[in-house]
Amino acid sequence: MIHLKSDRELEKMRQAGQIVGEVLARMREWAQPGVTTAELDARAEELIHSRNAIPSFKGYPPGSDNPFPATICASVNEELVHGVPGPRVLQEGDIISIDVGAIYEGYHGDAAVTLPVGEISAEAQRLLRVTKAALYEAIAKARPGNRSGDISAAMQDYVERHGYNVVREYTSHGIGRQMHEDPQIPNYGRPGYGVLLRKGMTVALEPMVLSGDYRVRVLDNHWTVVAADGKLTAHFEHTVVVRDGEAEILTQWAQDDRARTEQER
Ligand code: MG
Repeated sequence: MIHLKSDRELEKMRQAGQIVGEVLARMREWAQPGVTTAELDARAEELIHSRNAIPSFKGYPPGSDNPFPATICASVNEELVHGVPGPRVLQEGDIISIDVGAIYEGYHGDAAVTLPVGEISAEAQRLLRVTKAALYEAIAKARPGNRSGDISAAMQDYVERHGYNVVREYTSHGIGRQMHEDPQIPNYGRPGYGVLLRKGMTVALEPMVLSGDYRVRVLDNHWTVVAADGKLTAHFEHTVVVRDGEAEILTQWAQDDRARTEQER
């Protein structure tokens, strides 16, 4: 069942999204050479608590034998998503995907950015640019009357046109009182298929992009998803609400990011 949000619910989701956006904005300053991913995690957790919110990922899923142990997913280089923070020290030239979720008064926000650590290669810069642009391509399709397949196809087409691949096993998703609600929206698909989009739907759209082959594997910690071929990967995500006209982004990490991304293309 897809739950369309009321204005009162959207107000809480805006608050949750603002907290998530703030964490990611600060990560731009914090993700520097010499910092460990555990330090980034601790700072994120502290900031979320200071805003009277709760980290969404820590302990997820409830009742699991192996719940996610941290506030952020920190996925470096060939790690695509669900990287577990720890003693790894960031090096100049790394790229790191930071994914974070927060619950505010029972409602979730969920977003991710992939950041450069110091100076990065031209190939890595291109991968980040294309993956972020794929996110805004997806958001542009999140309109009443479109279908989820329009979003999926937009992500896949844009990414493949630039010579990269989208993940097959992990999806964008509905979000609200739960972090993962219906519908699931794959990174690949066909226009005109899938769930009809309606005003008041809230979805977390997240292109997960591999610079090499699309195959992935999961490390022995049962969380970290890596490119099977070891090549660079990137991931961007926003929580948005479908409205008349353009979708509203609830997890802004910078006011003018969409316009700037357009200019960079
Ligand atoms: Mg998500």
